[in-house]
Amino acid sequence: MGWAGLLACLVLALATPGWADAERLLLLYTNDIHDHVRPGADGVGGLPWVAGYVAEVRAERKDVLLLDAGDAAEKGDLVAFLTDSELTFEAMGRIGYDAIAVGNHEHNLGLNQLRRFDALTGYRLLALNLVGADGLPIFAPSRVFERGGHRIAVIGMALPRPHDTLDFEASGRALGAHAAMLREQASADLVIVVAHVGTSDASRWSRAAPEVDVFITGHTHETLEAPMRVPDTGALLVQAGANARKVGRLELALHRGERPRVVSAEIVRLEHRRFAPDEALLAWITAREQALAPEAGEVVARLQAPLGWFAIARLSAAAIRAHAGADIGLYHPTHVVRNPLVPGPVTVNELFRAASDRGHPLVEVELTGAEIEAYLIGLARRDPRRWGETQWSGFRIERGEAGHLTTDLQAGRRYQVVMPQREWEKRFMRLVEQLEGPERAGPLAARTFEARPAEFSSVQALAQFLAALPDGVDQALERLASAQGDADPLEATAEALFLARTYRSAE
Ligand SMILES: [Zn+2]
Repeated sequence: MGWAGLLACLVLALATPGWADAERLLLLYTNDIHDHVRPGADGVGGLPWVAGYVAEVRAERKDVLLLDAGDAAEKGDLVAFLTDSELTFEAMGRIGYDAIAVGNHEHNLGLNQLRRFDALTGYRLLALNLVGADGLPIFAPSRVFERGGHRIAVIGMALPRPHDTLDFEASGRALGAHAAMLREQASADLVIVVAHVGTSDASRWSRAAPEVDVFITGHTHETLEAPMRVPDTGALLVQAGANARKVGRLELALHRGERPRVVSAEIVRLEHRRFAPDEALLAWITAREQALAPEAGEVVARLQAPLGWFAIARLSAAAIRAHAGADIGLYHPTHVVRNPLVPGPVTVNELFRAASDRGHPLVEVELTGAEIEAYLIGLARRDPRRWGETQWSGFRIERGEAGHLTTDLQAGRRYQVVMPQREWEKRFMRLVEQLEGPERAGPLAARTFEARPAEFSSVQALAQFLAALPDGVDQALERLASAQGDADPLEATAEALFLARTYRSAE
């Protein structure tokens, strides 16, 4: 097409009758809040800032819908964890979300907890593909809103899982049928989906459900500065990062019988120096933290450099061992630790965020030296790159002359061992259940294991350990490394890789 043709097209597009005075709709959206209820320690985000921004916009205009694409629970602040994420949903109820999708982290907490979340938000959870034994949705599948003379339908889609949900393809078919029904029977002018899937999965659902105009997506923590269009269907896809740090803002012009047009699109980063929080919500969350976790804001260490997965696990193994008075502490870096720690003052809340729900409950168990060695060998064998290797405290691993690794554990002695419950269940016991080849004749096959819950959490132990250090965290890590024996030469590389990956995807 030549310039003249292109110009003619542009002029035609601008001159489409009715669009100049078309009705507007402003969508505000979040996803993957992950229990980030309190002020962000780096001066960005937290639910009181989401609330403050939303209130400011709503004070200016009435054509607003506030939507969330799921995973409000887990992986965040200690105070929210102590309420099983109920605090987060109660806050979202106070903010006045219009519709909220169900994420896999809500799903993790079970259907009864999901029902409580639904009630706390004023019944705003939507999930078409979360189904009971009868194949019917357990929660409201959709809701229709009136805005400026238009009927806007919002449908909720959960991440397909092996239980309680339709599979991916069946979810797409159900979405297609439901969206068509809303168009015809509920006279919806616009169909929006809050979907706890990333943009590529949402594109696949769009092809199965061409009636859908907009997908508010989540789960993959993507930040789309501009909306994407699904090539085959023309549907719009948006997503606004994660952890209550950003609010997406999409203004649409609506015209009956046509796809909505994008008037403006923006990702608003909630910097505390630019935006005011909702003071009432901030005071309420601060009061709840004072009551449930008064230690959350206490500074227990100052870091000069970031602490990665292996360093956090190494410190934690020593801290839980000391706290339990046990012989040995184990702490799996990549399976239990979720986030590195950044330089600066480290509060109890930041320590909690490092491993969050995965590191909190601990177990104590009696194991022989031979059983501990078999566990370490089993882990290393299953992950040749050795990222799967756990961190340890209370014994040494040395590299012998022939390059073999040896420990100073006594094979027949019984040791008191403490470790995260998650590592016990998902690593140790899984290994015991899936012994392969020569392992079937090894020490782990010989008996049944029983662990008991510890009476303290790893964040308590680590906070106490760090606060009691006579010098810096770096010196403590050096002491621990030399007490562990030869450092694994691959470990440093693995840690650097993990850090590099995080920092590249952080912002
Ligand atoms: Zn998710």
